[in-house]
Amino acid sequence: MPGLKIKDLNVTVEEQPILTGVNLDVPLGEIHAIMGPNGTGKSTLAYTLMGHPRYQIEEGEIIFNGENINAMPPEERSKKGLFLAFQYPVSIPGVTVANFLRTAINAHRKTKNPDDKGIQIPEFRKLMIEKMKLLDMDPSMAGRYLNEGFSGGEKKRVEILQMAMLEPRIAVLDETDSGLDIDALRIVSEGINTLMNKNLGILVITHYQRILNYLKPDVVHVMVDGKILQSGGPGLAMKLEEQGYEWIRSPEAR
Ligand code: ADP
Ligand code: MG
Repeated sequence: MPGLKIKDLNVTVEEQPILTGVNLDVPLGEIHAIMGPNGTGKSTLAYTLMGHPRYQIEEGEIIFNGENINAMPPEERSKKGLFLAFQYPVSIPGVTVANFLRTAINAHRKTKNPDDKGIQIPEFRKLMIEKMKLLDMDPSMAGRYLNEGFSGGEKKRVEILQMAMLEPRIAVLDETDSGLDIDALRIVSEGINTLMNKNLGILVITHYQRILNYLKPDVVHVMVDGKILQSGGPGLAMKLEEQGYEWIRSPEAR
């Protein structure tokens, strides 16, 4: 089955159990949101999906396009079409946005064809400019050093640009809304909406409901204490915004 399937995932960080049985299905063509209080394991899930060595899978399976990827190295996951936008993007002094993007594209091309000589500069430029237009970005951004001195909104836009160029099958966006003012939030969300298509599944991780005013999720999941305790339609996000997370913990309230 194409898409992402998570079965009974139990993850420890430095021997501390953090995820305690996560089940989740993100089919292609759908936007799923995970909401939940701070410290509940949302970023842990994102890092585990990407294969960060610090996050130890004790039990369960991550199945991506029908294949168990529990033991697959992060770069392989990326090449196979799993994309993660981090909550805290790193800066890389001395590497321009354009160089960074071209290196990423070439790495992906090489997996598909080991003899690939890399994307030609004019072709790359054309593609990049096209995607930047789509995301309403200033072309001068391409010549700047990655994330150095970027505003929160600029960092997130570069991440969405990277996503646009790599054309992943599943994109995990961890708190893409954090640190964004309302205009930046709208632009980034519109960018994501523009990229949405039937071959892409998106998992948006967020603490606040507001990004979901722009990105219309098909399903909203609530994660509390390392588990998904409830799933529902967009109305669930509204309810959380009004009532907070506490009621989810008591079974009678549900
Ligand atoms: P969320 O993203 O929902 O706010 P996190 O996944 O970041 O939650 O954190 C869940 C729990 O795991 C927290 O108690 C946090 O302290 C712990 N944790 C996460 N990452 C690490 C790490 N790298 N080292 C130690 N503890 C961690
Ligand atoms: Mg987090």
